[in-house]
Amino acid sequence: EAFIRFENVEKIYGSGEGAVRALHDASFTIGKGEICVIVGPSGAGKTTLLNILGGMDTLTSGRVFLNDREVSAFDRRQLADYRRRDIGFVFQFYNLIPNLTALENVELASQIVRDSLPAPQVLTDVGLGERMRNFPAQLSGGEQQRVAIARALAKKPSLLLCDEPTGALDYATGKQILALLQDQSRKNGMTVVIITHNSALTAMADRVIGIRNGTVAYARLNEHVTPVE
Ligand code: ADP
Ligand code: ADP
Repeated sequence: EAFIRFENVEKIYGSGEGAVRALHDASFTIGKGEICVIVGPSGAGKTTLLNILGGMDTLTSGRVFLNDREVSAFDRRQLADYRRRDIGFVFQFYNLIPNLTALENVELASQIVRDSLPAPQVLTDVGLGERMRNFPAQLSGGEQQRVAIARALAKKPSLLLCDEPTGALDYATGKQILALLQDQSRKNGMTVVIITHNSALTAMADRVIGIRNGTVAYARLNEHVTPVE
């Protein structure tokens, strides 16, 4: 059964002459525990879709469900709770706090929710057990992204949303980051949705959704998912 369901989602920014229809007739489902990659040209509506799914933006019409809860019917407070408890976010440029160590960056996030994973444990899990006292500037891009992933994982989100998580990394490092996401998803049954321009990454996805001109151009399930080495 579907974990995520978009039903005829429409998003219009602005109004009148300057209105931009960023999404229209967007319908798809994603199963629980799947890794889903969203691809498509610049301006197609990928970030808008991710922001709506993450409760960071509201929609103009249509409906969005997560685990049979109607996210599109949430009020502001429910959306804030949803962002905090259910969703983990990973961005292209890590968004770490520069004057806090890796450990402190993760602790800051885990303090926000009850029943979070201990920061040292989750940092060890992403391969940074020896580096957790370092500041972001002392870490490589791939290591900084691992901290950002650890920060997202600490609160045990049911859904991890990633916007170009490998966009600032070289190919080999990018593959390591994806292997980490794949590993974490398999271990925890966590659903992962990733926006990427990197078409090589679609081989490791369970599902690929192509967005074009504000709507779903195609959605397919991969029969043979390639483990990232
Ligand atoms: P796309 O989703 O097609 O990459 P975006 O609107 O996300 O398009 O990005 C437009 C531009 O902004 C790109 O040049 C991209 O590198 C840059 N960009 C994307 N994400 C961020 C970010 N979090 N912070 C700063 N710049 C970004
Ligand atoms: P992508 O992530 O695929 O590059 P976006 O979702 O960022 O696409 O953008 C889809 C369309 O919506 C683009 O035409 C973009 O310019 C427009 N758009 C995105 N965010 C805003 C906003 N806050 N205000 C107005 N237009 C926006």
